[in-house]
Amino acid sequence: METIAQTGVPLPQEGPQRQPSQEAISIRGFLETSFLDWPGKVVSVLFLPGCNFRCPFCHNHALVLNPGGLEEIPRSYIMARLAELEGWVDGVCISGGEPTIHPYLPSFIAEIKSLGLPIKLDTNGSNPHVLQSLVEEGLVDSVAMDVKGPLDEVNYSRAAGVPVDLEKIRESICFLKQGKVDYRFRTTVVPALHKEEDLLHLAHHLSGSSSFTLQNFNPEDPLDPQLKGTSPYTEEWLQEMEVRISSILHH
Ligand code: SF4
Repeated sequence: METIAQTGVPLPQEGPQRQPSQEAISIRGFLETSFLDWPGKVVSVLFLPGCNFRCPFCHNHALVLNPGGLEEIPRSYIMARLAELEGWVDGVCISGGEPTIHPYLPSFIAEIKSLGLPIKLDTNGSNPHVLQSLVEEGLVDSVAMDVKGPLDEVNYSRAAGVPVDLEKIRESICFLKQGKVDYRFRTTVVPALHKEEDLLHLAHHLSGSSSFTLQNFNPEDPLDPQLKGTSPYTEEWLQEMEVRISSILHH
C-alpha cells in the first residue's frame, strides 16, 4: 500500500473538503486567556470541532477525529464569560479543527463581535470563499493560515493527510497577500514531511508576504502514532531556516 513518506500512514485516495453540519456550532474547547494565539495580544480561544484535513502531526486530533468525545461547552456560558472578560482580553481566536467547515460560522462570529471583541481566525485555507466573505463582511480582524508544505499535489496531500485541491489553497494565499486583513502564514515543520528544499520552495511561493513563521511539531501526541516520539528539527535549525526564508520573502 502506498504510504505517506516515512510515516507509514496510508496515502488517502479521497477526503472530504467540507463536513456539512445543519446544526448550530458546538464549542468543544474554551481557553479563557492565551498569550500565544494572537501575537502581542491576550485572547480567549474557542475550539470548534471537526476538520477536513488529517495532518499526521495534528496535536488537536481529538477535535478532528472524535469531537463527540469532548464535552460541549454551552454557547450561553461562553457568551457570558466573554462579556465578563471584556477589558481583560484583547480579542477572541476562533480555532479548531477547521472553523470554516461550519455553515453557521459567520453568524457565530457576528454574535461574538457584537461584544466588541476583535476576532482572529485560524484556518487551513481550504475554503477560500468562506475566508473572503468573512473578511469582506468585516467579521475577522486577523487570519493565521496554516500552509502545510510546498504547493505541489503530492507533498501537500501528504502533509494534510488527505488529497487537497491546491487551487483553493493558492486562492486563499493570493487573497491574504492582497493585505485586506492582517494575516500570517505558518507551517508546522516535521522532518519526515519537510526538507530544507521544501521550505525554501514554499518561501518562494509566499514571496512578498508580510509574515511566514515556522513552528516545530509536537512529538508527544500527534495524530499519526508513528510520529510519536520522533525527533523534531532543532530550534537552531528552525531559526536558521527562518532567516533564509525571510530573505526570500522580502528580496
Ligand atoms: S493540524 Fe490539520 S488536521 Fe489538525 S486541525 Fe489543523 S488542519 Fe485539521
